[in-house]
Amino acid sequence: MDKLVSPRRTKEIIDKYGFRFSKSLGQNFLIDENIIYKILDGAEISENDLVLEVGPGIGTLTQYLGDRARKVLAIEIDKTLIPILGETLSEYENIELVHGDVLEIDLNQLINEKFAGEKVKVVSNLPYYVTTPIIMKFLEDEVPVTDIVVMVQKEVADRLKASPNTKDYGALSVAVQYYCEPEIITKVPRAVFIPQPNVESTVIRLKVLDRPRVNIDNRKLFFKVVKASFAKRRKTLLNSLSMGTLGLDKKDIKEALSLSEIDSKRRGESLAIEEFALLANNINKIIKEKPES
Ligand code: SAM
Repeated sequence: MDKLVSPRRTKEIIDKYGFRFSKSLGQNFLIDENIIYKILDGAEISENDLVLEVGPGIGTLTQYLGDRARKVLAIEIDKTLIPILGETLSEYENIELVHGDVLEIDLNQLINEKFAGEKVKVVSNLPYYVTTPIIMKFLEDEVPVTDIVVMVQKEVADRLKASPNTKDYGALSVAVQYYCEPEIITKVPRAVFIPQPNVESTVIRLKVLDRPRVNIDNRKLFFKVVKASFAKRRKTLLNSLSMGTLGLDKKDIKEALSLSEIDSKRRGESLAIEEFALLANNINKIIKEKPES
């Protein structure tokens, strides 16, 4: 069968099924083979790999994944695409389709069932309205993944990869870099999609680390400290952290900062992840030592 990737084949199949694009489901389909090869090479897909694709659309990227990988599991939310995928993927015995919302599915259970719990690579042209929740779900639920190679809005990629003291550095950068090493694969122009999105895109690879980047005594508290530190970007750490969310007063925060050797006048955006870890661990100690009130 002809590959779908050309604009002509894409239009043909869409017309045949009377398919209508849904903006609210973030449907922008790829029509450029070069970008597909960059995604596959960026993810280093080989015949040993098990791949999970979020949102196959009409199956454009999926066909190429099927050619290169051992097995592909594709999760698509839009039921009007299921019969189309039935046709476009019919020649691939190593591709399995799941109809559902990736955010609702128990991914650990699914991977256990379909791949006997082996580690997978996530490869996807993500729906932009839910990029961050999808990435965070894989990481926070500790789904067995080695890599997440995804097309996202350029702005999101910049935030995922950002370093301290830059405008893009925020709670999302710290959360993702806690679990992963990010690497930009390529920038992507709007013209490679039907319909064209309003934003520029980037393919990014998040290599999941064997162990999180820093040692944390209380993960929930760590993420709370990170969030609170960025909530008011212009405030000093002392002020942002004693505003209530942590339940500690200025004296306690001062003590935690001083134990961590962090100047209380610094702002959240200047802290490296190692400093956030130290600070959160010291705050945790102070909370634990406090008598129950
Ligand atoms: N992979 C195709 C391609 O590159 O041409 C389509 C990519 S399109 C940007 C995103 C796809 O994700 C759409 O097919 C959309 O229906 C699907 N999608 C949106 N939200 C989803 C969700 N919560 N779970 C699973 N699929 C979803």
